[in-house]
Amino acid sequence: MGLLLLALLVQVEVLGLLQPRAAVATGAGRPLQLRAEGERLLVDGTARAGPLRLDGGARGLRLSVPGLAGPRTFPGTLLIWARRGRLQLVDELELEEYVAGVVAAELGPRPEPAAAEALAVVARSFAVRRAAEAAARGPAQAHATSSPLCDQTHCQLFQGRAAAAARAAARATAGRVLLVAAGRVAPALHHAACGGRTSAAAALWPGASADEQEAGTPVDDPLPGGGPPRPACAEGPGEAPLRYAVRLEPAQLAAALGLVPPLHLAIDRDPEGWLRRVEAGGPPLTAEELHLRLGRALGWDRVRSARFTLEESAGDPVGSAGPSLLLRGVGHGHGVGLCQRGAAALAKAGYTAARILARYFPRLRVGALPKGLDPR
Ligand SMILES: [Zn+2]
Ligand SMILES: [Zn+2]
Repeated sequence: MGLLLLALLVQVEVLGLLQPRAAVATGAGRPLQLRAEGERLLVDGTARAGPLRLDGGARGLRLSVPGLAGPRTFPGTLLIWARRGRLQLVDELELEEYVAGVVAAELGPRPEPAAAEALAVVARSFAVRRAAEAAARGPAQAHATSSPLCDQTHCQLFQGRAAAAARAAARATAGRVLLVAAGRVAPALHHAACGGRTSAAAALWPGASADEQEAGTPVDDPLPGGGPPRPACAEGPGEAPLRYAVRLEPAQLAAALGLVPPLHLAIDRDPEGWLRRVEAGGPPLTAEELHLRLGRALGWDRVRSARFTLEESAGDPVGSAGPSLLLRGVGHGHGVGLCQRGAAALAKAGYTAARILARYFPRLRVGALPKGLDPR
């Protein structure tokens, strides 16, 4: 089984958000100056045909890029080419190196071991499922390169080589994935904080497949133990608050929706009072679609989740563009699948990785990676 796992490679588009024009790569030999000029890649000033493959060996390849705080080390092989004056970078690496990298990037340098192991299983399942879908249907259109995965929360955060704790979590769970009842690797997801109850994949994405719905079954996420009921992901010292509020001017909302104010909003709420759908003159949008549009328009740190209410702000003067709106929300991220802050709290309370996974994925089971998934 060890040999089979070693053969599993994944491809990840890296630094696609930065779109660097230049970089310095340091591997086993001397540093290489890389520069994109139109469709040409210059290596130490000399143009070369075809993509460059760089392998940093056991220590990894160090890449220094303007705009990054420090160099980033990538395991495996980096494929580099130029497009429209920007470097295109794809890291081709072993699945387990990628899993460790995701755990490190998502949970930081000192995660709770059981939470890190649970996330490793989720991250592995997501990557294997995504790679298999890309192999069957073609690569995701959402990425600049043809890689099935990117290094942002759009897929899973990945910042290259992982620190020891994350590597240990990947090793402890090597080859273990979440499976749907039919035995396929589950399209399992994770997010930062659910706010007390995870979201249904079907509610967020009306086109969710049966497997996505099985993996994205909503559950309550209470903190175990006595005392008044609290979400497992309730804020501890030094953590961002679970609740947030954003005042929206009508023009901001209109711009995010691609409409012209004044807006006439028709809001459909779920039984708990959260916005389910909104209609503002165009086709109706789900909460997740509005979350994504507001994220793109205002920045991703403001409307932090897809669970919020939207109301006219009482006491505001009604201007020609209409009253401003108050958006109040809870949680961080899409809310489907494993709640990272909740998992950390459960681990602190003594839960094993298996119990954490059982809470967030009640319809899935943990098993070995099915044979025949080697993408080569
Ligand atoms: Zn992506
Ligand atoms: Zn939670």
